[in-house]
Amino acid sequence: MKAQPKASHFVDGAYLEDKAGAAIEVIYPATGEVIAVVHEATPAVVEAALASATRAQGAWAALRPVERARILRRAADLIRERNPDLARLETLDTGKPVQETLVADWPSGADALEYFAGLAPTITGETIPLGRDFVYTIREALGVCVGIGAWNYPSQIACWKSAPALALGNAMVFKPSEVTPLGALQLAEIYIEAGLPPGLFNVVQGRGAVGGALVTDPRVAKVSLTGSVPTGQKVYAAAAAGVRHVTMELGGKSPLVVFDDASVEDAVGAAMLGNFYSAGQVCSNGTRVFVQKGIKARFLKSLAARTAKITLGDPLDEATQMGPLVSAAQLDKVLGYIETAKAEGATLVCGGERAALNSGFYVQPTVFADVTDAMTLAREEVFGPVMAVLDFDTEDEAIARANATEFGLAAGVFTADMARAHRVVGQLQAGTTWINAYNLTPVEAPFGGAKSSGVGRENGHAAVEHYSQIKSVYVGMGPVDAPY
Ligand code: NDP
Repeated sequence: MKAQPKASHFVDGAYLEDKAGAAIEVIYPATGEVIAVVHEATPAVVEAALASATRAQGAWAALRPVERARILRRAADLIRERNPDLARLETLDTGKPVQETLVADWPSGADALEYFAGLAPTITGETIPLGRDFVYTIREALGVCVGIGAWNYPSQIACWKSAPALALGNAMVFKPSEVTPLGALQLAEIYIEAGLPPGLFNVVQGRGAVGGALVTDPRVAKVSLTGSVPTGQKVYAAAAAGVRHVTMELGGKSPLVVFDDASVEDAVGAAMLGNFYSAGQVCSNGTRVFVQKGIKARFLKSLAARTAKITLGDPLDEATQMGPLVSAAQLDKVLGYIETAKAEGATLVCGGERAALNSGFYVQPTVFADVTDAMTLAREEVFGPVMAVLDFDTEDEAIARANATEFGLAAGVFTADMARAHRVVGQLQAGTTWINAYNLTPVEAPFGGAKSSGVGRENGHAAVEHYSQIKSVYVGMGPVDAPY
């Protein structure tokens, strides 16, 4: 199986290679096979990308918003036309089953292009009357933005960052995670085919050092990172040195609180979606499932039965429901957390082992019950198919324990009592919350984290704030009243 791109980077409207950069092997997680090799960007490639973005951005920002929107809409159409091929490539890059990549990854990316294409032409300023004089405001592009992606939704992340950036008149240099470098190159090709002028969306490959070089360049106005909290802290600090705008989409350990009046089957289904989709490699997963004691036995029984039926297998087979983890390193990390949970006394309900399939990086979908707040499994982000079920008695207790974490990305509540649902959600410290649902992230809704889980918001009208800035224009309509 091969998925070799035409070259490692995409700069100034064309593929670009520079084999002087260290080789990065792209591994198909279902078999461990090397399917492509790309090279890390050299300083010359980084320079070419930033120079071309800087050159292109001014003329792009000067276009009418509808002209920019037309190009984004065309790109969205191309994505939808090519979705089957793009989904297959995403599966090779990430190991996620095509059952998911066909409906989630590129389609949600195309949604972002359509949404921000529609939104951009509606952005206006305001007029502030001051008697004789007045002020008007203009919402302007920031300039050159850097996007840095994680490996779990590589193409969706590239779209979610570039769509608002481009729609509002910015240029973007995007660095995918070194683990999943392929999808962003496809997006760069599609943008050019849709009519995007060269330089406005450049892709450079590399590890943290390449990201570091981009983040600290004086030409860069904004950095948007999706990644872990420790990386976010480093990148935020580096961006702060240049007083750059930032969006930080970081990790989580989100609570899903299930009250005993909830529909147990719906709550179980949501907990499974919020722990097992993408083999659990989703930042907003509800990995601390708080279940009220009255329904604990029923909840665990149904959960174990439904989890046992999950089909693991070849991710390219549309019947497969769960693929491997993204890499050998992630496999080791997740198995380590499973062993720690066993050692710390959590009750293993199901799973708990590596799944031996084709030398791929598979882990059985795993559920632990009787998890306590102090256990490692309740405190650290695992990023694998490992669910922790915790018991609780009262509403106040659930809220206090749900909030007792440095993270604040997401949270969910299941209950038939709508007054309680709104009361509880109002007290949960999280950027994105759900009532009787979990992990639905439509582009229309702002998405992002509270506390250590992030700064800024992607999607929705909120993203406009993070890819543009306001200029106030004071208009003097009469003589200048100077005291000297
Ligand atoms: P990492 O934090 O390891 O990496 C994120 C990106 O930052 C990668 O492209 C990485 O490159 C790059 N990077 C690393 N160090 C630096 C640096 N010093 N300067 C600039 N860039 C750097 O995250 P993962 O890729 O492992 O992704 C998993 C994490 O992402 C999880 O914590 C998850 O919760 C979070 N995430 C958050 C989401 C959200 O929207 N809130 C969505 C998806 C994931 P390289 O990989 O080459 O080192």
